[in-house]
Amino acid sequence: MPAFRNVLDPKNYDPADIIVADVAIIGGGSSGTYAAINLREMGQNVVVVEKKKHLGGHTNTYRDHSTNVTIDYGVQAFLNSSITRDYFAHFGVPVVNYTGSNNIFLLADFNTGKPLTINPSRDLTGWATQLAKYPWLDSTWNVPQPVAADLLLPLRDFLTKYNLSDVAFAIYFGAQGLSNPLQQSTIDVMKMVDPAYLFEMTGSSLGTAHQNNAEIYLKALAELGSNALIHSGVTAATRTEKGNVSLAVKTRKGAKLVQASKVLITIPPTLENMKPFDLNPEERRLFSQWDYKGYYTVLLNNTGLPSGYQWINANYSAVTYNIPQQPSASQITSTRIPGIFYVWYRSPSEMTREDVEKAVILAIQNIQTAQNLTVTTPHILKFKSHTPFKLSVPAQAIRDGFYSNLYSLQGKRSTWYTGAAFIAHNSGLVWNFTHGLLPQIASD
Ligand SMILES: Cc1cc2nc3c(=O)[nH]c(=O)nc-3n(C[C@H](O)[C@H](O)[C@H](O)COP(=O)(O)OP(=O)(O)OC[C@H]3O[C@@H](n4cnc5c(N)ncnc54)[C@H](O)[C@@H]3O)c2cc1C
Repeated sequence: MPAFRNVLDPKNYDPADIIVADVAIIGGGSSGTYAAINLREMGQNVVVVEKKKHLGGHTNTYRDHSTNVTIDYGVQAFLNSSITRDYFAHFGVPVVNYTGSNNIFLLADFNTGKPLTINPSRDLTGWATQLAKYPWLDSTWNVPQPVAADLLLPLRDFLTKYNLSDVAFAIYFGAQGLSNPLQQSTIDVMKMVDPAYLFEMTGSSLGTAHQNNAEIYLKALAELGSNALIHSGVTAATRTEKGNVSLAVKTRKGAKLVQASKVLITIPPTLENMKPFDLNPEERRLFSQWDYKGYYTVLLNNTGLPSGYQWINANYSAVTYNIPQQPSASQITSTRIPGIFYVWYRSPSEMTREDVEKAVILAIQNIQTAQNLTVTTPHILKFKSHTPFKLSVPAQAIRDGFYSNLYSLQGKRSTWYTGAAFIAHNSGLVWNFTHGLLPQIASD
């Protein structure tokens, strides 16, 4: 029998394969990259472990190589805050006021392709009044106890209670990536259609001047150099209370051992993702409670659809306030490259790439047929999975203090946490939250 090789024993590594750092950062998306760049500015040595071949997480940027024109078909815009502006300035990437596209909106039932003659209200004033009762929404998930009963109502009941059902569709549309919102706890929806979102909807968000949101991540990768282990994953770990973290990392250049004083987890902390991290019973108890959604972005051409439009999926059902059942595409959007469209697809659970692509093509062909357009076979240029998206726990768990227990993990076992599950699905809010955490991590 071959001898058991302890992947966490430095004796089993060539010294060149042992990386010593102050902070090991797991995940090089929005929060992980922000933390890496700013911790370095604070004099900390960092190493980033990212599973994909690039940094940037939910940022999807397509480049047309014949013209060099780029399209952002994932993250679009950023909260206009000094933290956001400073971050882009660090990379010398110019930002502008985000104006969105000039597309004309059309509502259609993607199951039939038929256009709809409805005009759901977009007036979120009443929703804003409700949000104002919870001023902590944008800055923490540590819900004040006892949790207000309204926050735990299914959204449908909350909207009925406050006579807000006429804006259910606008809330569904704003809660991008969230499936079947009427059945979700109100607080989970409020954390997506939050005060920051409403502020951004007033035209106050920022976009990149070059319409290339990947630019900061390319520059971050260059800045981090060999301290960014891309296309890599942790396979085993030990974490002590006393500032000793050892991580066995599988990289495209072979096995590495990372020895750090602390680790910052920025990946969605599902049980599956956290499996290699030597979980204790409390961590396992918390991480096993997460549920999450499927969320996919697809870029296509040969759609047979005219440029300059965004089709939005809806229906005539008064019972669901015109909100389509998921899984389904929520919108089909024309981009600045004529003939290229992107589609955002929501699902209550994870789906295969094949099933999502088939459903997207069918939705487009339904529109072609119903609207007497030439029927084509759309060609998929890019497919990206953003799953697991929007981690959530049942209302009962929130009432029982799930988030306060989650937050109390901070700093224990030399481990810190940031990212969407800890604050919100909004890059600006994720950066604010991470910014507040970094001094504690650096001084830990
Ligand atoms: C389609 C789409 C559009 C969006 N549009 C906007 C927008 O316009 N404005 C806005 O503010 N927000 C937007 N968001 C939300 C925003 O992007 C997220 O809230 C934000 O990226 C969350 O940051 P994060 O660091 O938690 O996660 P991510 O940015 O997803 O980073 C997590 C990283 O960890 C990596 N990873 C995952 N598992 C592992 C593992 N086991 N080991 C190593 N690495 C791993 C991932 O590859 C990823 O790079 C959008 C999201 C989506 C999906």
